[in-house]
Amino acid sequence: MTTRRTDGEHHRWARDKLIRTLERRGIRDRRVLDALRAVPRHLFIPSEQFKQQAYEDYALPIGAEQTISQPWVVARMTELLGVDSEHSVLEIGTGSGYQCAVLAQLARRVYSLERIGALARKAIERIRSLGLTNVKIQIFDGTVGWSDVAPFDRVMITAAAPSVPKPLLDQLATPGRLVVPEGERHEQRLVTYIKNEQGAVGRHVGEAVTFVPLIGRHGWSAKTSGR
Ligand code: SAH
Repeated sequence: MTTRRTDGEHHRWARDKLIRTLERRGIRDRRVLDALRAVPRHLFIPSEQFKQQAYEDYALPIGAEQTISQPWVVARMTELLGVDSEHSVLEIGTGSGYQCAVLAQLARRVYSLERIGALARKAIERIRSLGLTNVKIQIFDGTVGWSDVAPFDRVMITAAAPSVPKPLLDQLATPGRLVVPEGERHEQRLVTYIKNEQGAVGRHVGEAVTFVPLIGRHGWSAKTSGR
């Protein structure tokens, strides 16, 4: 085809195509699909080389040996989290800021923590340039949580944890829900913790995924992370 498209049109077309791919791969929640459609993923990918693949269903490098998650994983985790417009959400592992921007479409407020300063600073710029005013990003070890602004209705951990960090379960509201890729270093399962009205916590094991490690006091240690 020789159809010419402007840049904006091209990205919109590519984004619609990605949404159809996600639907085919089992994402059903309309609000989640609309949130992903609303966020221009190419703006979260620093390298020109990889920007071209922004609307393919792949994880891509974002520098500092970290990755922006595959869109299907972002959509599935957001679906499992069950966010609504009243919720205060904590994300651990800001990375590029993409998942954070998706959550910001759905929640009242999003708090996100990143341990690598250079990544957090770029993410803050992107979130600002998109005009998302309900997001706060800070640089520190997210495994200890963010007690100043706790409790959170929802918590999402976007790095692989050997087990769920206890401070994050403690900072989860009653009722509340937390999603985490939990397991071994090179393969994890998407695990959902559901705290009920009485404060009892249930655990549901979902799909297999692969994330970069959660490094910190209640995660993997930096020395043995292999990174
Ligand atoms: N959600 C991101 C992708 C996350 S990649 C996105 O949408 O782009 C995982 C991120 O978790 C990396 O940036 C890594 O530096 C960060 N991370 C790892 N351990 C962490 C910790 N203890 N606290 C905060 N961030 C952490």
